[in-house]
Amino acid sequence: MAVVFFTLWVIMVVAAINIASKKGRSSCGFVAITLLVPFIGLIIAVAMSPDQSTMDQLALNQGAAVKCSACRSLIDPEATICPHCQTKIESFRIGSLR
Ligand SMILES: [Zn+2]
Repeated sequence: MAVVFFTLWVIMVVAAINIASKKGRSSCGFVAITLLVPFIGLIIAVAMSPDQSTMDQLALNQGAAVKCSACRSLIDPEATICPHCQTKIESFRIGSLR
C-alpha cells in the first residue's frame, strides 16, 4: 500500500512542477509546498496564471516571438507591421538564419 502512495506522490510532484515550470512559476517556495503536499501543489499549478515576463523570455529564446524595435512588444517573427504600434518591421531578427 505504501508503494501505491509513494508512486502517486511522485506522479503528483512531477506533474505539478512540470505544469508550474511551463508557466514560468516553478519557484523554490512552490516546489517546497508541492513536496510537502503534492495534491495542493498540483491544484496551485493548474490554477495559477502564467508569469508573463518569464513566458515572454521563453518565447524569445525559442524564436517564437521577436521584440518590436519601436515599442518593445512581443510580436510574431513573420510580422511585417507591429500590431501594437503599427511600425513597419525591418529585419532585426538576431540568431535566426531563416
Ligand atoms: Zn511595436
